[in-house]
Amino acid sequence: MFKRTHHCNELTTANVGQTVTLCGWVNASRNLGGLIFIDLRDREGITQINIDPAARPELAAKAATLHEEYVISVTGIVRARPENMVNAKRATGTIEVEGTDLEILNAAKPMPYNLEDPTASEDIKLKYRYLDMRRCGLLANLRYRHKMTKVIRDVLDENGFIEVDTPILTKSTPEGARDYLVPSRIKPGLFFALPQSPQQYKQLLMVGGVERYFQIARCFRDEDLRADRQPEFTQVDLEMSFVDQDDIIAVSEQMIARTVEAVTGKKVQLPIERMTWDTAMNKYGSDKPDLRFDMAIHDMGAIFQNTAFQAFQKVLADGGVIRAINAKGQAASSSRKVIDGWTEEAKLFGAHGLLWLKVDPDGKLSGSAAKFFNEDETAAMKAELAAEPGDLLLMVADKWSVACAAMGRVRLCVADKAGLIDPSVLRFEWIVDFPMFEWSEEDNKWNAVHHPFTAPNDEGWALLESDPGKVYAKAYDIILNGCELGGGSIRIHQPERQAQIFKALGISDEQARLRFGHLLDAFSFGAPPHGGIALGLDRFVMLLCSAKSIREVIAFPKTAKSFDLLMDAPDTVDKKQLDELHIAIVNDTEDK
Ligand code: ASP
Repeated sequence: MFKRTHHCNELTTANVGQTVTLCGWVNASRNLGGLIFIDLRDREGITQINIDPAARPELAAKAATLHEEYVISVTGIVRARPENMVNAKRATGTIEVEGTDLEILNAAKPMPYNLEDPTASEDIKLKYRYLDMRRCGLLANLRYRHKMTKVIRDVLDENGFIEVDTPILTKSTPEGARDYLVPSRIKPGLFFALPQSPQQYKQLLMVGGVERYFQIARCFRDEDLRADRQPEFTQVDLEMSFVDQDDIIAVSEQMIARTVEAVTGKKVQLPIERMTWDTAMNKYGSDKPDLRFDMAIHDMGAIFQNTAFQAFQKVLADGGVIRAINAKGQAASSSRKVIDGWTEEAKLFGAHGLLWLKVDPDGKLSGSAAKFFNEDETAAMKAELAAEPGDLLLMVADKWSVACAAMGRVRLCVADKAGLIDPSVLRFEWIVDFPMFEWSEEDNKWNAVHHPFTAPNDEGWALLESDPGKVYAKAYDIILNGCELGGGSIRIHQPERQAQIFKALGISDEQARLRFGHLLDAFSFGAPPHGGIALGLDRFVMLLCSAKSIREVIAFPKTAKSFDLLMDAPDTVDKKQLDELHIAIVNDTEDK
């Protein structure tokens, strides 16, 4: 009989004397001669069963055949444990169930790896994901995720949003990644693309008069995976009509605050603060700065305007910048080796080097570059950075973008070493006023920073042709603890305006018609002003439940190389299937 009366985390001394039936997996069984103990586990917890061979020899014989992960149903009587046997670590630790009946619902082969072994390789755990799920925190993470999506749905529903599914088989949407393609059987040579996001559909829903849409949307991007990305991931995607940036930010904040409070009990102070992209880059060297600590980057350019130090002279003459941070109190503990490590990090972002100076107890500066600076420069530098004895000053002189990125990275390294980051803090911030375009050396043209449907700010239209690099967008990102949680924008809703942006992006009228004709048409039939945002759900769950990787909050993730080890996918298919799709495999393995 596998109908349970209770789950395995439920029974307490209040149930003593009751006859109960529990179902689950054998977590462990111990035959202590006189007594057989079974730890019975279900998704809620563990209950100890005991079987007395003297009193019930047949039952004991059956229990003796049990192995790890057998699926069983046990009926028995709840007994209080003697005081010295109470297990305070377990919710059911004050009782045990004296087994009177036991049914083996299914046997299990020996496990392919030790399910309790924290050092088991990730590959084997991914291959046997359903086993990993039984024991590790994964199940707790899935519940956490469920709770978050439930709150998100509730908040959006209360705010008048309608959840709408959009197609998975669709046409390429430009979110900056490679598309996953699906060949058409009916139209040989034609392909669907899996959506990189529902961007165009949600805009079409606005043209359709839906006004407030959301979706817990699956997105697909065929990228060479950087750390902690998945080829398919989930976004909380929403779009609103007749709104401006503040409205979208307000709804998003409400959703974020309610979700955070529901799962962590922490209050998010609303409104969440905003910082312009320019400030974020200049002060923290990143468009997703970790603001759990300050250690701002300083602009030292003015101090070195007339410097005799040739390396600085050259950088400034070439239009570059000199940026510095004060790693407070880090002089003594930062060995040459530590600083060399940071220098390597700075170099990964293209910096030529990292200058360092220690403030000695007498207030003098020592270190790699101290001799290059005159007295005035030294004094000004110390004043700008509020330098005190024991401080370590770190500097990069380079192109603006390189100096920002390198100092941004070094700032994080220093904070990490100095223990400045409090892991219990959730620090949100809006980054606003993003640039509209970024110059691509590779494509030799301007590309959209967000996507081509984003509206420039009102002054930007006049600069589109003359100075695209100076155009800012009505785009915003929400960041949490140095991670980008999501982003969105106010969209263009007029066809001539959209055509202007396509032009600025080097998309010809012909191409625009071919790729986005449907959208331009839709805009010509009365599109409301609209805008939206998408939050990365996997990352949001990961950050709130302090998981180390998004793989820990996805039931069936792929490896860093985009393989599904459990299903063994991607895989070969039958020739017949390929023929139907008019596809021939060109054997290019030798080229690889
Ligand atoms: N579609 C965008 C993205 O996936 C989000 C948005 O603009 O709403 O990043």
